[in-house]
Amino acid sequence: MGRIIAIANQKGGVGKTTTAINLSACLAEKGKRVLAVDMDPQGNMTSGLGVDKDNAEKTVYDLIIGEAEINEVICQEALENLDVIPTNIDLSAAEIELIGVEDKEYIIRNAIHRVKDEYDFVIIDCPPSLSMLTVNAMTTADSVLVPIQCEYYALEGLSQLIHTIELVKERLNPELEIEGVVFTMYDARTNLSLQVVENVKDNLNQNIYKTIIPRNIRLAEAPSYGMPINKYDTKSTGAESYRMLAEEVINR
Ligand code: ADP
Ligand code: MG
Repeated sequence: MGRIIAIANQKGGVGKTTTAINLSACLAEKGKRVLAVDMDPQGNMTSGLGVDKDNAEKTVYDLIIGEAEINEVICQEALENLDVIPTNIDLSAAEIELIGVEDKEYIIRNAIHRVKDEYDFVIIDCPPSLSMLTVNAMTTADSVLVPIQCEYYALEGLSQLIHTIELVKERLNPELEIEGVVFTMYDARTNLSLQVVENVKDNLNQNIYKTIIPRNIRLAEAPSYGMPINKYDTKSTGAESYRMLAEEVINR
């Protein structure tokens, strides 16, 4: 039975998409069947997994407006063991399209739950907002994984995010759990990264993944080649750390 994990944080640039791409790819590398779902109109998860977002025939947007069935939007075997539901900028109109639609919080859930048993993991990349797209990801998911960037304002906005998750759990998806937080862009050369990790550990009553993702230039380069890190530079520290995270997620 597929486990559905949404990668969310309404802050931009904290490593959501990088985590969504590379966690998906490393789970697939370990032989798990993975479906990667791109819910951010930027479409960076789509292109980062090597799918041409601008020439994708059907996308998440078509699912939302009822112009496509789930099986028509799945891009099979973008990588070995890994299917992708692509997105592009069209999705930015979804918020408007959803106004007044019945069960608008469950459109993606209803679609994904039809295929989830074909996968071990479904990984959903969320946009940097607490919008209806994020709500759709959270009603679909079993759990939310929150990337936290190791920088000074790390805790800012986190209580709002946790409140949102709790509201969705209370009103829309009683099964929803907080999977945990994962630290990203850790820079071992600065005290700041270490202080942020200590501070968050002291102040956040949530599960924290042991794996900490370091700042690694290879992780930033890989998307422009349309490759996840395990393909782009399989021996990099970035690849090793996302493999460790995948292992932890599997064993959870
Ligand atoms: P989000 O999806 O939360 O907006 P991204 O995953 O797109 O964040 O990351 C923001 C930027 O930081 C991107 O340019 C990405 O390549 C870069 N980045 C993310 N994680 C790392 C990392 N561990 N090391 C180096 N660069 C990173
Ligand atoms: Mg992103």
